[in-house]
Amino acid sequence: MDISSLLPLFGATPHASRPLIIAGPCSVESPRQISEVAQALSLEGIKYLRAGIWKPRTHPGSFEGVGARGLKWLVSAAVANDMIPLTEVANASHLRSALRAGIKNFWIGARTAANPFAVQELADEFALLNPSLRESVTVLVKNPVNPDIELWIGSIQRLYSAGIRRLGAIHRGFSSYGEKTFRNRPEWRIPIELKRRIPELPVICDPSHIAGRRGLVEEVARQAMEMDFDGLIIEAHCFPDDALSDREQQLTPSALGHLIKSLGHRCNDSGATSCLKACRDEIDGIDREIIALLSRRMDVAREIGEMKRRESIPVVQPDRYKALMEERIDDAARLNLSPEFLRRIFSIIHDESVNQQLS
Ligand code: PEP
Ligand code: MN
Repeated sequence: MDISSLLPLFGATPHASRPLIIAGPCSVESPRQISEVAQALSLEGIKYLRAGIWKPRTHPGSFEGVGARGLKWLVSAAVANDMIPLTEVANASHLRSALRAGIKNFWIGARTAANPFAVQELADEFALLNPSLRESVTVLVKNPVNPDIELWIGSIQRLYSAGIRRLGAIHRGFSSYGEKTFRNRPEWRIPIELKRRIPELPVICDPSHIAGRRGLVEEVARQAMEMDFDGLIIEAHCFPDDALSDREQQLTPSALGHLIKSLGHRCNDSGATSCLKACRDEIDGIDREIIALLSRRMDVAREIGEMKRRESIPVVQPDRYKALMEERIDDAARLNLSPEFLRRIFSIIHDESVNQQLS
């Protein structure tokens, strides 16, 4: 399906304030908490205020959000500081309440995005809106908790088909059993593949839910910027240690301000830009060499194919394949390449060699 007639998020002109920065607490907790954090974030130059009203928690009995009464607290805090509020919606009733409170910008959480029934319920509710309201709402779809790009794209398509045109994706990492470094593994290749498949779709990174701890948020945010993400959504709270949800990963507004400045310095540094250009030129050259080498390898494979045909030797020889793979993995390990990476590459190369020998 084609997702090409998208409009800019939040009604802004494309890339007007790139990178787009959305910040705010994990949850709205009280009128005072949300108004203090909004004010402090607005002083740091933040325009988009995120805060959860209904929280999808792993264990029952944890803080599950203040519920619909928090919507007006969020809206007043945003209005008082000239900010634009966003919140998470997980079902049609959340969406109706948020729209009634005047909120027009939403994200769909990772657990909801993994459930086609829930996304379709939201899409059907969006489809009922009058066309001019529907055209003005922004919806950001988080990646599903499991690393399944098709499910992520499927959720985006459901909203597009319902007439939502201000659509974006949020990369918040993927659950993985036994993972220690990240709360949710970044698996960068998945959002990169999403950008490749739908180039018009803005992709925003959520380093807070990837990192899961304050000390790692900046590093993940920096990596996202280096990979040319369109923006960041970061959790911030005036008193992170007292937060009612996700306290380990929330930054204070001033720490967030520092983080943004440090990213800005890197992005604007002209030395870094010329260094980047030099590295890109080098990569371009290496890629050309890889292509030339692959082409030579396939020439040789075709020659081998002919010899095998003449001498009636079978094309696939499992022992030779196993020995070759082990040898390549050892060579690669000496050059600091991961065995898994090498195994994947060589299995693709070997498949193509077999095709060439059979042709
Ligand atoms: C959140 O943004 O606070 C949240 C619950 O995120 P996720 O759906 O990514 O877990
Ligand atoms: Mn959170």
